[in-house]
Amino acid sequence: MSDSTGNSADGKRQFGFTTTILHNDRSKPIEHGSLHKPIHTSVAFGYSDARQLASVFQGKEPGFRYGRQGNPTVAALEDKLTRMEDGVSSICFGTGMGAIGAVFQALLRAGDHVVTSRFLFGNTNSLWHTVAGQGVAVDFVDATAVANVAAALTPATRLVFVETIANPRTQVADLAGIGQLCRERGILFVVDNTMTSPYLFRPKAVGAGLVVNALTKSIAGHGIALGGALTDTGEYDWARYPHIADNYKRNPPAQWGMAQIRAKGLRDFGASLGPEAAHHIAVGAETLALRMQRACSNALALARMLAADRRVAAVHYPGLPSHPQHGFASALFRAHGFLLSFELADGIDCFDYLNRLQVAIAASNLGDTRTLVIPVAHTIFFEMGAERRASMGIADSLIRVSVGIEDEADLLDDFRLALQQ
Ligand SMILES: *Cc1c(COP(=O)(O)O)cnc(C)c1O
Repeated sequence: MSDSTGNSADGKRQFGFTTTILHNDRSKPIEHGSLHKPIHTSVAFGYSDARQLASVFQGKEPGFRYGRQGNPTVAALEDKLTRMEDGVSSICFGTGMGAIGAVFQALLRAGDHVVTSRFLFGNTNSLWHTVAGQGVAVDFVDATAVANVAAALTPATRLVFVETIANPRTQVADLAGIGQLCRERGILFVVDNTMTSPYLFRPKAVGAGLVVNALTKSIAGHGIALGGALTDTGEYDWARYPHIADNYKRNPPAQWGMAQIRAKGLRDFGASLGPEAAHHIAVGAETLALRMQRACSNALALARMLAADRRVAAVHYPGLPSHPQHGFASALFRAHGFLLSFELADGIDCFDYLNRLQVAIAASNLGDTRTLVIPVAHTIFFEMGAERRASMGIADSLIRVSVGIEDEADLLDDFRLALQQ
């Protein structure tokens, strides 16, 4: 993947990923020459000409109406995310789940069908079960092979939804195969890019029409703000989507999907991102590439060390040649990610092990600058019960590690010393 975003701050020169993020706010005039888009806290936006207010409401000219539907600080972040994903437009939400929920609320109706992965972020899995109770049929398939997705498609299938790297077992979806299948069938392909981030992978490259990013995770990186986003990559032809309401068809077809999502998903349901959080996320995003490089190289070193230790029963990391989708991951991603999980050998208690760690913190976030660990079966996957855990390959001793940017030697020492009882 090239480093260029395909866009430049001045509209002429092509800049790399980080240069583009750092200078994107200044591509539009900012008051006082401010280097950052300021935090605009106003909920309402006044117009000296009432006709202009009407024209903004009617979508005839750009402008802000009310904070729930858009805000200048949030818009600056949306613009940055669009450049990061090399897309056409983006919409921010108060959380990653708000963004995924908006896909359902804006695009699906009773009688529709969705194909998704059996290996999903737990809350997304729960959301699709909620949706299934509201008249949308949902099939959960092993998305590491496109044949399973193809076999599940029906004439009512409106979209296919997958994640890049699944948490906690790190299965990698057959992204290129599914993208090709969706393109052939004219089905919207939605990819949750949270575990890779647009620095490691752009789902547009495999034909995804919509990209989800939980901004809370590595895009912000600091763990001090929640946020989510959808980006339209321009790859999907909205003229083929059956449920676009007539009032959003006044714009060119390329804008139909996002116009409906902003109105139906964001305005009507109100999971809006606040300007303070947008600012925190934008500042964090400036160092995304640097943090990802460091976290991914730490993760690879840690995975290799654990895999070589007989006190560790199994290590799941796409960067290891033994990983079943090592090939997919190596072909598509710039590096193999910051997430790994491992199982301790019999006789080592996972709680005692975690309590011996001095650098890594027992906590439930991901993509933080700090290394975070969690005993999966006893926390995030506790509610589903032992039987479902077993069917998903979640061992009782499985520890998920979201690798941070600490000094590599400190991290390796921490996980190795804790193995010595
Ligand atoms: C965390 C996460 C989400 C949800 O994001 P929130 O901001 O916590 O709502 C969605 N998808 C994936 C893959 C995640 O890791």
